[in-house]
Amino acid sequence: MAAAHEPRPVRAARGTELTAKSWQTEGPLRMLMNNLDPEVAEHPDELVVYGGTGKAARSWAAYDAIVRTLETLESDETLLVQSGKPVGVFRTHEWAPRVLIANSNLVGDWATWPEFRRLEALGLTMYGQMTAGSWIYIGTQGILQGTYETFAAVAAKRFGGTLAGTLTLTGGAGGMGGAQPLAVTMNDGVVLIVDVDETRLRRRLDHGYLDELADDLDDAVARVLAAKVDRRPLSVGLVGNAATVFADLLARKVPIDVVTDQTSAHDPLAYLPEGVSVADWKALAAADPDGFTVRSRAAMAKQVAAMVGFQDAGAEVFDYGNSIRAEAQLGGYERAFDFPGFVPAYIRPLFAEGKGPFRWVALSGDPADIAATDTAILELFPDDAPLRRWITKAGEKVHFEGLPARICWLGYQERHLAGLKFNEMVASGELSAPIVIGRDHLDAGSVASPYRETEAMADGSDAIADWPLLNALLNTASGATWVSIHHGGGVGIGRSIHAGQVIVADGTDLAAQKIARVLVNDPGTGVMRHVDAGYERAADVARERGLRVPMWEG
Ligand code: NAD
Repeated sequence: MAAAHEPRPVRAARGTELTAKSWQTEGPLRMLMNNLDPEVAEHPDELVVYGGTGKAARSWAAYDAIVRTLETLESDETLLVQSGKPVGVFRTHEWAPRVLIANSNLVGDWATWPEFRRLEALGLTMYGQMTAGSWIYIGTQGILQGTYETFAAVAAKRFGGTLAGTLTLTGGAGGMGGAQPLAVTMNDGVVLIVDVDETRLRRRLDHGYLDELADDLDDAVARVLAAKVDRRPLSVGLVGNAATVFADLLARKVPIDVVTDQTSAHDPLAYLPEGVSVADWKALAAADPDGFTVRSRAAMAKQVAAMVGFQDAGAEVFDYGNSIRAEAQLGGYERAFDFPGFVPAYIRPLFAEGKGPFRWVALSGDPADIAATDTAILELFPDDAPLRRWITKAGEKVHFEGLPARICWLGYQERHLAGLKFNEMVASGELSAPIVIGRDHLDAGSVASPYRETEAMADGSDAIADWPLLNALLNTASGATWVSIHHGGGVGIGRSIHAGQVIVADGTDLAAQKIARVLVNDPGTGVMRHVDAGYERAADVARERGLRVPMWEG
């Protein structure tokens, strides 16, 4: 057995035997462990799940204490977690969440990376990213569908509905970015993905998210151009620094149609400057964070300048939610915001309907449970062609990481239908164990993030952060099993505030009552937020589907 509080491989229990006192606490317990499963987490020894330094627990001692507490928590108690550390257990009631989480929150004037790192070094806080510190990360699949839909929207906007015969260039094959190659090939396109760290690209190869690894730039260009000419879907990985490679490809005038990036640009210490090796990365960043930041921002400025160059040459270019434009601007590149973020470019109309990344996990560990839920989803929404296409392709192509899981985008007055159906299937024994239902914090009503989800809101309300707080309060009041409020996810410290909710469908009547509230109210806040900002589509959805918005009544 590992020494107390030391790193060790973690894997959630499978099957129907409870480790905790009920499924309402077994759910968060298995999901915390699943986040740290070596199959799921990018750097599990450091408790890092994904997204640069996004962690599931502050320390191994904190992890052990969370596990111990969840194993004994009663169904009328609530555990409070402050930035990855369990800090208290309180008597509440059975409708209350079993866990309430606040991660990485700082008072406005103090919300900077240097101050955050100072506090982190003192052991006082932790970077929770979005689903890392809120225990609902499901591996790269979690982002795959959103990425697939985004590239489908690019195809619809610019290329007649398919990426066949087009070449996409992107950077970053990490936990989230690693979904990009498969998302492009699922849209029938060709993609070149650049990452400095060969192990990240190899992991995507092993997990079926990437087709091939090139030997060098010439080899990569030859492979992708041959596939583009043949209109043959293909993803090729290249080990290299995106700043260098993007600029080289622009100079070579390689005919690239779509350009984006998902390196960990939100954190200047998680983006590798040119001229630094992966082996020296951590030591150099730790020894001189300020000097490292100057160098990484200079590299980001170079990469973004190349992206703008591709746009000038006619390519479809967008920021994929990692704040690279803001960092490049800080690095001195003035035209950084010449290309849009992906939300205003492609996603906002979905948010106006309360649509977002709904996900669920089979606590049994049995892939057959997910196959059964896939069938249920297709039966529930028979007329939704894009949903059918996605669920079918996901069933064929998605390799589960950790506990079997599925994601699909569902909107207001849709999600609860799925949740109630899953709960019935648990009750009837059609599923072998309960299902955990949650979502990304990147959702219609749960985030304020002016460089990403709330960029260019119609009423200028991009930075208003009351909305995610109201979302979290409402989910708490509605019966979610665990609720979280985070700062800095996706785009980095100082740039976002967001909330998450997860609910356990354990087959009971009580769970059904909670699901009927949480899975209506949660996406409902997305519709409300977009009605308030003046989006016509959201107002129509509110009227048609019965959402009350007082300022629009009477
Ligand atoms: P990650 O830390 O797991 O992976 C980042 C990858 O970037 C690593 O593999 C790293 O080696 C690589 N990298 C760093 N510097 C590089 C450079 N100069 N050139 C080439 N590769 C470099 O992070 P992740 O989970 O994949 O997330 C990536 C980014 O996307 C983050 O900023 C995250 O906040 C953002 N994000 C976006 C969305 C979205 O929906 N668009 C969702 C989640 C996360």
